[in-house]
Amino acid sequence: MINRLCIIGVGLIGGSLSRALRTKQACQSVIGCSRSEKHLQRALDLGVIDEFTTDVAKAVQGADMIVVSVPLRAMPEIFRTIDAHIDKNAVITDVGSAKANVELAARNNLAKSIHQFVPGHPIAGTEQNGVEASFAELFQNRKVILTPLEENPAETIERVKSMWEAAGAIVQNMSVEHHDEVLAATSHLPHILAYGLVDTLANMSDRDEIFQYAAGGFRDFSRIASSDPVMWRDICVENNQAIIKILDQYQQNLDVIKQAIATADLDTLEAIFKRAKQARDRYTDQPVSDKK
Ligand code: NAP
Repeated sequence: MINRLCIIGVGLIGGSLSRALRTKQACQSVIGCSRSEKHLQRALDLGVIDEFTTDVAKAVQGADMIVVSVPLRAMPEIFRTIDAHIDKNAVITDVGSAKANVELAARNNLAKSIHQFVPGHPIAGTEQNGVEASFAELFQNRKVILTPLEENPAETIERVKSMWEAAGAIVQNMSVEHHDEVLAATSHLPHILAYGLVDTLANMSDRDEIFQYAAGGFRDFSRIASSDPVMWRDICVENNQAIIKILDQYQQNLDVIKQAIATADLDTLEAIFKRAKQARDRYTDQPVSDKK
């Protein structure tokens, strides 16, 4: 299906996509690109890519599928550098976790090739990063959201869809605005809460004792605070409007809970916890994106 796949950013997501497509024999060869030769050599040693370069303009030459899989704020510069070097029959996509600013960056920097760019976001990941953490099954039965541009020919969208399906994913289209609001609520907010909780505890004078007693609930809730700080810094800034909106709603709810605790309002507390438990039980074991 793909002759020459170019992965810019061979980390958890880019590396997993390459592994998945190689396993399914859906691409002939893979060239990897990022800033560090050491990281790329590791990807080569692990059999994730066939060759590499740190020169992003060179990397895209001759590729028929280009996947940009770097932190969000690194994307504009990459788009600007590759625009003049992309083959006219190539398709470009990305995997960024917030889509409005990626679209804007593409419009500002892919002057020549904007119609070839189909924004995308796999709803799959772990709290690990780097190529060592990548694995071929990451996208199996997971949703990938595409937010196509009006300039995209149907065949271009289809090629990106086929690539993700070959990697085992289920592909859906969505508007950019809807994507950013849904992901702010279901992914970005939980990560911010986990980082905030762990940071609060880490700043306490008796933190050593506190962490010593941290058990099941804390471990479950805080796991995602091990995620990559640069990636999450970028997501917060790049999806700030939708995140602030949901943070405000959450803060209001937290104020209600705080007030109920302060006044020993058992009915309010029980009603909120019951509602939350019912919702959690109803949706448990269903991937987030299945709810849409
Ligand atoms: P990752 O494992 O840290 O991989 C990022 C890769 O980008 C690394 O290979 C890094 O290699 C490269 N890179 C960083 N800055 C670069 C630059 N300026 N130019 C070229 N390469 C650069 O991160 P990831 O989890 O795969 O995330 C990548 C993208 O996927 C992000 O946009 C994120 O929003 C999105 N995403 C992540 C998840 C998740 O759960 N992790 C889920 C869905 C989508 P070098 O250090 O060698 O440059």
